[in-house]
Amino acid sequence: MSQTSETVLEIDLAALEHNYNYMRSKIGASTKMLGVVKAFAYGSDSVKIATRLEKLGVNYFAVAYTKEGITLRKGGITKPILVLHPQSSNFEEVIAYNLMPNIYSKYTLNTFITTAEKLHQKNYPIHLKINTGLNRLGFSIEEIDWIVNKLTTTQSTKVEGIFSHLGASEDTAEKDFTLLQIKNYQKALDKILPQLAYKPICHLCNTSGIINYPEAHYDMVRTGIGLYGYGNSAKEDKNLIPVGTLKTLISQIHHIKKGESVGYNRGFIASKNTKTATLPLGHADGINRIYGKQKTSVLINGKLAPIIGNVCMDMLMINVTNVDCNEGDEVILFGKEKSAEEFANNAGTISYELITSISQRVKRNIIN
Ligand SMILES: *Cc1c(COP(=O)(O)O)cnc(C)c1O
Repeated sequence: MSQTSETVLEIDLAALEHNYNYMRSKIGASTKMLGVVKAFAYGSDSVKIATRLEKLGVNYFAVAYTKEGITLRKGGITKPILVLHPQSSNFEEVIAYNLMPNIYSKYTLNTFITTAEKLHQKNYPIHLKINTGLNRLGFSIEEIDWIVNKLTTTQSTKVEGIFSHLGASEDTAEKDFTLLQIKNYQKALDKILPQLAYKPICHLCNTSGIINYPEAHYDMVRTGIGLYGYGNSAKEDKNLIPVGTLKTLISQIHHIKKGESVGYNRGFIASKNTKTATLPLGHADGINRIYGKQKTSVLINGKLAPIIGNVCMDMLMINVTNVDCNEGDEVILFGKEKSAEEFANNAGTISYELITSISQRVKRNIIN
C-alpha cells in the first residue's frame, strides 16, 4: 500500500503526454494544436503543464484571463498565448507580455486599437471571436463588415486568428445545434476571409468537437479537458489517463453507536453501529458540500466508502463500516483508480467543475 502523509494532488506528466499524443492522433498532421491551460491548467499547475506541452510540440496556448498569461510568460513559456477573456483595462499588459487578446465586440476592438496605437504597435496579433450560437462572447456575423472597415483604419493590429466556440459538442442529442454552429462559423469565414489580404488561423473545436466533428477541425483545435484525461464520454475516457489524482489519508477512526450522529448539524445519523473515518480535507480544499450526505464515495484499500454528513471546511467524514482500514491509510478521492467524472456525476456536477475547484491550499505533487 502506498503512503501519503498529507492531502496532495498528484499530477502525472506521463499521463499528460499520453493524452496529448492521443488528442494529436485525432487531428491531421498539419492541424495546429492549442492547449487550454486556464484555471491553473484545470486545477493542476499551469506552468508545469505548459512547459511539458511546449516540449511535446504544442503550437499554442490559451488562458482565460490576462494574469494567467503573465504567469506563463514569467514561467518561461514562449509559444503564442491566446487570452480568451481579457478586460480592456488589461490591454497594456497584454501587449507588454506578448499575449494575444480575444477581441469579441466593437468595444473591445476599439479599445484594443486605441491601446495598440498609443504603444506604437504594428500588426499586433489579435484573435476575433464570432458568436455562432453559444451567446456568450463574440461578434455577430452582421458585424463583420464593421470589423473589416475598422481594421482598414489602422496599422496597429492584425488578425492572427478567427474563432468560435461550440456549446454542446459532447452531446449527441444536440448534433443539429452543433452542425448549425459549424455552418454559422463557415458563413462568417466566407464573409471575412476574402476581405483580408492574409490568411488567419481558423479554429473552432474543443475536446469533444475534436472527437465528434473531425470535419470541423479547420487550421487549429483547442483541447482542454482531454489533455487532463477526461473525454466527456465513457468511450473516450477509456482512451485517456487522468492527470490529477487527489489523495489524502485517514486522520482518525470512530466506532459510533446506532442513533449517534456525525458532523455539523448532525448531517448523518447512524441507523446501526457504524465505523467512520475522518479525512483532512474539506470544502476549503474544493470538496464542496454537494459531495456530502452520501452523494459520492472515496476509495480506500480498493473499497468504496461514502462521504457522510455535511462536508466541513477542513475535514470530511466517510463510512468505513465495510472497509478494512486503519488510521494513516491512504484514501483516493479521484484520479487514475477512480474517475473524477464519476465522483462529480454522482453529486450532479461534472469533472470540469470538480478538478478546477481543488483549491490552492492542496499541495501539488508533480511526477514523471
Ligand atoms: C475552456 C475552453 C476550451 C476548452 O474546452 P474543453 O472542453 O476543455 O476542451 C476551448 N475553447 C474555449 C473558448 C474555452 O473557453
